[in-house]
Amino acid sequence: MLVDPFGRHVTYLRVSVTDRCDLRCTYCMAEDMTFLPKRDLLTLEELDRLCTAFVQRGVKKLRITGGEPLVRRNVMQLFRALGRHLDSGALEELTLTTNANRLALFADELADIGVRRVNVSLDSLRPDRFRTITRTGDLDKVLGGIMAAKRAGLHVKINTVALAGQNEDELADIVRWAHGEGFDVTFIETMPMGEVEEDRTAHYLPLSVLRERLDAVWTLSDLPLRTGGPARYVRAEETGGRIGFITPLTHNFCEGCNRVRLTCTGTLYMCLGQEDAADLRAVIRATESDDALHAALDDAIARKPKGHDFIIDRGAPRFSVARHMSVTGG
Ligand code: SAM
Ligand code: SF4
Repeated sequence: MLVDPFGRHVTYLRVSVTDRCDLRCTYCMAEDMTFLPKRDLLTLEELDRLCTAFVQRGVKKLRITGGEPLVRRNVMQLFRALGRHLDSGALEELTLTTNANRLALFADELADIGVRRVNVSLDSLRPDRFRTITRTGDLDKVLGGIMAAKRAGLHVKINTVALAGQNEDELADIVRWAHGEGFDVTFIETMPMGEVEEDRTAHYLPLSVLRERLDAVWTLSDLPLRTGGPARYVRAEETGGRIGFITPLTHNFCEGCNRVRLTCTGTLYMCLGQEDAADLRAVIRATESDDALHAALDDAIARKPKGHDFIIDRGAPRFSVARHMSVTGG
């Protein structure tokens, strides 16, 4: 098992399979992002080898993310390979986070492999605004992807970054639409990760404020449900649907942290908000045997920090960690 110095069991691995994306959300990426050279990326086989080592060490949940995971060439090969751990029972859940731009192409195959749930990021239901926030996105295409996932039997959760002055006036509409379709919604505060053109502080909307606003629309009851993640959930009694709040800035969620993150170059980050990392690519390329890899995992988990120290404030640096969310894997 992988247990850190604070007694937290690492049972959840998030894997960014590419830093590239077919959208350019303004809070996530710079317009002219420089992406990693392809030669630096782990192959799909190497990603499988690393994920498999984590599964052997007690990881029960794997989330494939990015960048946009569905733009990685032949990514379904990786899903298929990892699906064997679902079949054996070693892995409880294989899932992904996607912008749904290409989800219509893959929804049926994902369901066939054993994926049961998918998180889809959607920050607006208004076509013009959706294009502005994503810089390039076509809302109809994304909604098509979401509906394809629903038809394939996947449980869809909508993730929405709450942005002051950008989408704050339609967040209740997003809940209404999502709950009408049978989807849960989770709101996220914008996090200071990586340099982008815009000033994130200007668009930072504390979710405590959003919760009060939604409370005026529906009767919200707290749910005890904890997924091991940073979200706190409420039920809107009138719709029966769930609303989650991820509040890295107003609420520190680190004490129950069960996760680590692997980038597409094989760098393992033990915390989303800290710079310390372990280079697992060098380890797996040095030897075919997994002994050194397991030793490297022990060494890395022994360095998992207690928590992050994100600050978003006027006067604070524009970003707390230099890497973008698309590199670490959101
Ligand atoms: N491309 C996929 C997507 O958008 O769902 C997966 C990767 S994306 C980096 C994962 C999540 O991170 C998305 O929900 C996105 O909104 C969120 N995200 C990206 N940059 C962020 C930031 N600076 N603060 C908060 N959330 C961010
Ligand atoms: Fe791409 Fe996701 Fe970042 Fe948007 S949030 S630019 S979809 S990686």
